[in-house]
Amino acid sequence: MLNWLNVLKFANSGNPAPDQRVEKSDEEWKKLLTEEEFRITRLKGTERAFSSEMCSLFEPGLYVCACCGTVLFDSAEKFESGTGWPSFTQPIHENSISYHKDQGFGMYRIETLCNTCDAHLGHVFQDGPPPSGLRYCMNALALKKVTK
Ligand code: FE
Repeated sequence: MLNWLNVLKFANSGNPAPDQRVEKSDEEWKKLLTEEEFRITRLKGTERAFSSEMCSLFEPGLYVCACCGTVLFDSAEKFESGTGWPSFTQPIHENSISYHKDQGFGMYRIETLCNTCDAHLGHVFQDGPPPSGLRYCMNALALKKVTK
């Protein structure tokens, strides 16, 4: 199980290798994604808080990357954070997501990307529930829910 120290180590010293890589040009991604999905995942955008029903969706299933379809989270790790963005406390595998220092907007945050295709997902914070203490604050448009 990943904790905040693991996340900082990945962001500072390098991320674990993904099982596979998917690389496409922006033009190719534009053909596969809606305009809003493209803005968030490929241009590091952020959707409005409370803009998605996914926040209050807790039915069993898996959450995959909206760009490449790699499984990122299990619904068992999803929790109600009250932030208006879907929140998880642990990724499905240690190498599913990559971690990067983000000092934009005058804040020091850890950005999360899909480790397979580099889609911007959101950020991870250290104020999540035990035992991991992590809160993955995700854009709903960066994820798709699939049944197991
Ligand atoms: Fe991806």
